[in-house]
Amino acid sequence: MSAAQAPSSTSPAVRLEELSDSDFEEEIIGTAMSDHLEYLHRVAPPLRDLLETDTSKAQDETLEAILPFLEGNPNEFDLNSHHLPKLQRKKHVAFLEKTLGNYPAQMAPMDAARPWFLYWSLQGLTALGEDVSKYQERVIYTFAAAQHPMGGYGGGHGQLPHLAATYAAVLSLVIVGGAEAYDSINRKAMWHYLGNMKQADGGFTMSPGGEEDIRGAFCAMVILSLLDLPLELPPDAPSRAHGHTSFMDNLGGWVSRCQNYEGGISAAPGNEAHGAYAFCGLGCLSIMGSPTETLNKYLDMPLLIHWLSSRQCAPEGGFSGRTNKLVDGCYSHWIGSCWALVEAASGKTGLWNRSALGRYILAAAQFKKGGLVDKPGKRPDAYHSCYNLAGLSATQRVYTFDEAMNGNVGKGHLGAPYHWEEKGLYEEDKAWDEGDLVDRVHPVFIVPWGKAEECRSHFEGKGVV
Ligand SMILES: [Zn+2]
Repeated sequence: MSAAQAPSSTSPAVRLEELSDSDFEEEIIGTAMSDHLEYLHRVAPPLRDLLETDTSKAQDETLEAILPFLEGNPNEFDLNSHHLPKLQRKKHVAFLEKTLGNYPAQMAPMDAARPWFLYWSLQGLTALGEDVSKYQERVIYTFAAAQHPMGGYGGGHGQLPHLAATYAAVLSLVIVGGAEAYDSINRKAMWHYLGNMKQADGGFTMSPGGEEDIRGAFCAMVILSLLDLPLELPPDAPSRAHGHTSFMDNLGGWVSRCQNYEGGISAAPGNEAHGAYAFCGLGCLSIMGSPTETLNKYLDMPLLIHWLSSRQCAPEGGFSGRTNKLVDGCYSHWIGSCWALVEAASGKTGLWNRSALGRYILAAAQFKKGGLVDKPGKRPDAYHSCYNLAGLSATQRVYTFDEAMNGNVGKGHLGAPYHWEEKGLYEEDKAWDEGDLVDRVHPVFIVPWGKAEECRSHFEGKGVV
């Protein structure tokens, strides 16, 4: 066993220092990897205090487990011209096709999450360039059975609807696309269902009488916008009793109160800031209007940017979801996809290290047999595959918001998300080759480029008679 592969008894930061000897590098690793190591040497080790805690130990152990993947190629993948593992496209496609198949009996407790498995797998496949139209009929059939007569979707036939399942169902139908898929959605019942979720304080619950959090606000805005439902609350909406007439009433202020003292966004006012809730909050505001207007109006942007920047781990390159937490591949999206929205609102670019995130995904988040993972040592799943790939797409592509709101789709209310443009590929210090490119992903809806516009234009101006 070479020294580079041997478990080290010293701290990871010291190990990085040790590796700065270029003779050592070439002797042990070979010239093929030296470019990549050169990059690692440029990464400043994190500031550390001397107090050892469970958290600091977990961080050291995690870095110890990840470093071999950043320094070398334990999975023996083919390398790209930047000496990083190539995107293992075929293996990931095979993995995601399997996750769309039948499930073993032990998955029964996950039944309520079934719409998510479809969404993650379909979105992951399209990100890899696969045509998913062959799944159209099955997706329509599955969700026709899972749609509740009172509106919204449950995990399967006979289950009560839930806004998370409804969000995943609608996005899955948008991904496979086509009039039959769109028209399978009972929009009028959906409008009433969403009206039931609107709360007196401006937020939304996830189910009638259920938890009120920022997922509810985001999911409701996504569905109202994609299906071009009226902004006016249905006559039977309970929050009408509190003076509300619109789904938007008090919503911006409610999202604003979810930004906590750290600058990140939490599930509900007063809670801990979290990466996934940050994306939900920014996504919600970016549907309510132009991000330039809404993000600057409702959020402390410098504080938000500080918190988002602090999520990028060094030298891992990937993101953590919360303060003092570990790097995790799913935040490649939850944090990584926040940047397009923040850059549009702030007018600033270069706020995050795209190359470092790309390196983490390619080197550390690809499972040897296919599928993507949280971190080395974890098993792959559709969730981490979908969101690592969405994050990789975010590192590779530059999106801008068209403030003039030109275009044929999205002229009515909640039309802002149809005004994004792709400005090409990010080329500076890139970590990928053409073969590692992931397809374009809509920066707010996280569906394939063009699919949200197709759905919206199908419904635009149709009302809910
Ligand atoms: Zn994760």
